Amino acid sequence: MRFVIDRMLGKLSTWLRVLGYDTVYAAEVNGKIGAGNEDEDRALVALAEHETRILLTRDKNLALAAMKRDVQCVKIETDDVMEQLKELLQHSININLEPVPVRCSECNAGIRKIEEGEEDILREKNYVPKSMIGKWDFWVCPRCGRIYWEGSHWRNMREKLRQNLLLKRNALPKE
Ligand SMILES: [Zn+2]
Repeated sequence: MRFVIDRMLGKLSTWLRVLGYDTVYAAEVNGKIGAGNEDEDRALVALAEHETRILLTRDKNLALAAMKRDVQCVKIETDDVMEQLKELLQHSININLEPVPVRCSECNAGIRKIEEGEEDILREKNYVPKSMIGKWDFWVCPRCGRIYWEGSHWRNMREKLRQNLLLKRNALPKE
């Protein structure tokens, strides 16, 4: 399951990457696609079609354009990202709700685990707590260099998903 996401849903793209999904965010493919206009709409639909991605959008016209080409699409109705994830579930897009360290939430590249002996990569980054180096598992994005670890940020995300979605999953309205 892969996604392409319009410019109004940046936060949702971050969360889907945290959940492990290959997610193209419109604002990041500027090179290939112009500003938010008809050309961009066409390009997003074409990308979804060629790469079999599910298109997520807040834009009714974009959703209609996708449906015309038989591209799987969800017209997102809410602003809150937890509600948006819920909308996906309501459309029978059964996303996993556990964060997994497989994808860079900044740039969508696959991340890899840092091996013993590679700790210098971590010391170069001032946002990595020095006291955790050697004790925790870390991952690095080969494309943008961002470092990831299962720290408090990660636990907060997991807890947010649990509170908002996992505990309520059975209470979701049926199709
Ligand atoms: Zn990256």
